[in-house]
Amino acid sequence: MICELCGKEAQLFKTEIEGTQLNVCKDCAKFGNILEEVKEKKVEIKTKVKKKEPGDEIIEIVVSDFAQKIKNRREKLKLKQEELAKKLGIKESLLHHIESRKFMPSIELAKRIEKFLKIKLVEEYIETGMNIAKGETAELTIGDIVELKRK
Ligand SMILES: [Zn+2]
Repeated sequence: MICELCGKEAQLFKTEIEGTQLNVCKDCAKFGNILEEVKEKKVEIKTKVKKKEPGDEIIEIVVSDFAQKIKNRREKLKLKQEELAKKLGIKESLLHHIESRKFMPSIELAKRIEKFLKIKLVEEYIETGMNIAKGETAELTIGDIVELKRK
């Protein structure tokens, strides 16, 4: 990370200098009050990749618009989050997180919701080595891939 004052590559500290918050290096931080250490954002990757062996693999992916799909369908069925959660055997708060895309359901849970709501939430892709059979997969971010399964 680069210091916003001197441009040096260093561990940065969020520092208030003359009323302005800047991410600066330790040396420049002396000019103000250090508020906190700046942590580099880590990309959350939810993948479970099993060791690749020769042959095709079927990858199951929770569709990227799962939140919208569940919400739309639930509203169509005139179910409250509370009611749907109960039927699915999950907590209402969890369903709320799923619908607001804060939480991606596991393949198992997605399948359960899929079955209950009769919507498509899990897609299967056949992968041959590094080649992805379906072009769509490439558009998914790594965060969209929850679990890789071998059948
Ligand atoms: Zn500096």
